[in-house]
Amino acid sequence: MNSIVVTHGGATSVPALSQDGTDKAAATGLAAIAKGGSALDGAIAAVMVLEDDPRFNSGTGSSIRLDGKTIQMDAAVHDGATGDFGAVAAIERVRNPVLVARRVIETPHVLIVGEGATRFARAMGFGDYFPDSAPARERFARVVDALKGRSDDTQSYSTAWRRYDWKKAWNFETGLDEVLGSADTVGAVARDGRGRYAAAISTGGTSITFLGRVGDVPMYGCGIYAGPDGAVATTGNGEDIIKKLLAKRVYDDLATGTEPQAAVDRAIRLFPTDVGIGVIAIGARGHGGGGNRGNPTDFRPNMSWGIAQ
Ligand code: ASP
Repeated sequence: MNSIVVTHGGATSVPALSQDGTDKAAATGLAAIAKGGSALDGAIAAVMVLEDDPRFNSGTGSSIRLDGKTIQMDAAVHDGATGDFGAVAAIERVRNPVLVARRVIETPHVLIVGEGATRFARAMGFGDYFPDSAPARERFARVVDALKGRSDDTQSYSTAWRRYDWKKAWNFETGLDEVLGSADTVGAVARDGRGRYAAAISTGGTSITFLGRVGDVPMYGCGIYAGPDGAVATTGNGEDIIKKLLAKRVYDDLATGTEPQAAVDRAIRLFPTDVGIGVIAIGARGHGGGGNRGNPTDFRPNMSWGIAQ
């Protein structure tokens, strides 16, 4: 079987601005497999490239939360050959959350959160790193404008947030003078020469969230899924993805013989167009990917996603 790595840069990523980043990540993942790595090594190597690229909302480019200073990240890995799943949620001050997620596999747990996750990272030897980037600061400024009613930035937050009176339940230590942010996540799916599949995913979450909010990324079967029949990674508003168990649902389609692009298209059509969604998938019958941002009649090109094989 041929090796393949497919990556994405998030549901709202724009190919004209960041396609080179997802291409580079896919090529790096494939190179890791070519050097003898497993599908899991390939997916993780690809996600690390995206975490280190500040254009994407994960790792260094992670979104700033509503208080204007907190950065909390979620990440997960799923090895389709062994069934191993490891995740961290609301982790702070690490450079590559996906590497910490991988170390969770060695523990008896599947998910470690918050301060416990950060301390776990330190115990595993990951140093202190504050993810600070100009793109995240710019995104935060746009969200502030939107929340203050100075702009109608519909990319920045979900319909649910626009309807919700978030001021009522503000739970940050700092006051509520400033505010909000767009979504996005990075993800990779990989198959190695032995036909093993894996998926990895990492995000700065969405800015318009309360302290401690956890999205789909570290939840089993929601943000990613990998098994003997393929691998899937999703992106978009986490709360909507969770309620559809999206990654597992797409995987089930692959497992019953659906061609990956058809499975991806079907998944995207489960959501109304005001919910930004993106999906990548690989299986025995090929690969597929796409998102619903941009031209609604031809949604496949409207997300940065890369393929290397
Ligand atoms: N799914 C991510 C989350 O809700 C965000 C994204 O993919 O855009 O945390």
